[in-house]
Amino acid sequence: MIIAAIIVAAGRGSRAQRALPKQWQLLAGRPVVAHALAAFAAAPRIGPVILVAHPDDMDRARAVVAPDVRLVPGGATRRASVRAGLEAVRDTAGCVLIHDAARPCLSPALIARVIDALAQGPAAAPALPVTDALWQGEAGLVTGLHDRTGLFRAQTPQGFHTDAILSAHRRDTGAGNADDDVAIARRAGLPVRIVEGEADNLKITYPGDFARAEKILRGQMDIRMGTGFDVHRFGPGDKLTLCGVSLPHDRTLQGHSDADVGIHALADAIYGALAEGDIGRHFPPSDPQWKGAESHVFLRHAARLVSEKGFRISNLDVTLICELPRIGPHAAAMRAALARITGTEICRISVKATTSERLGFTGRGEGIAAQAAATLVKP
Ligand code: MG
Repeated sequence: MIIAAIIVAAGRGSRAQRALPKQWQLLAGRPVVAHALAAFAAAPRIGPVILVAHPDDMDRARAVVAPDVRLVPGGATRRASVRAGLEAVRDTAGCVLIHDAARPCLSPALIARVIDALAQGPAAAPALPVTDALWQGEAGLVTGLHDRTGLFRAQTPQGFHTDAILSAHRRDTGAGNADDDVAIARRAGLPVRIVEGEADNLKITYPGDFARAEKILRGQMDIRMGTGFDVHRFGPGDKLTLCGVSLPHDRTLQGHSDADVGIHALADAIYGALAEGDIGRHFPPSDPQWKGAESHVFLRHAARLVSEKGFRISNLDVTLICELPRIGPHAAAMRAALARITGTEICRISVKATTSERLGFTGRGEGIAAQAAATLVKP
């Protein structure tokens, strides 16, 4: 049985009080509609995905959808838009899930519950029982109380056997208030099974709903953590570079590049978080062009890879392990340098230092070690 998803995004709603239709507003870094598309793309058992967009929004839609999503121009009403979507899937899909693009926070589990219920009847839709008291009010005063027994708050996706809902749509003359497809199905005499909805599956209606939806979606974000470690030995010299800052010292650090041990550990932490190997993979020491290279080149590359993969740096933390030079007086300049190189706010970058109590190679002053951690997030 092929199951199609129709995402209805053709509305021109004004209640959210923004110039751009709400389904094209940015939410957690992507247009609202992209979140529902992603949920259906990730859901098992969903076959073709149809996006019904307003004819004026087709270019906007093309920029957002994956190549395998079919774009269908919508009609003047929600009913006409759904009908256009249904006509597009009628020959291929035995079942169809119809979803409002303005509900971006649905889960794969919700989609699965609707699909499961379609094995028992021609129509199923998620809803939540009304738990708050229902009042009548006028002029700021409570004027009455309604019994909430048996009342539900309707959600989407609403699922149907395709032939049943398509013939219901074709027969529906437009009389009566067709708020959703369940209303149309019921007018055609179809029994509609109620499945358990989700509190997070809110419909973006008012401006404040954006903040609530963003919070829910950010809670599902992809978080990556990586660590790095590096050591360079001291040799003759009069200055060294640590975390992008040049310091006068009675020795220098030796290495193929400028031997900035802090930046090397940090770049490896970022590559680690991305599962992209280490500095040596991207800048082989065997390649003479990196001899004497300034290490900010490596860190800049790692930071660019972060954004190319859709992540951003949440925080970076470096610990330098040495007896000398003293790091404390230079830590602020190092944080500023790392912020500049990575394009990250300084408050997200930490540079600190410790000695090893005169133990081991760092304690004997033979070299400097550094360890680092990086956290990356993708909304
Ligand atoms: Mg190194």
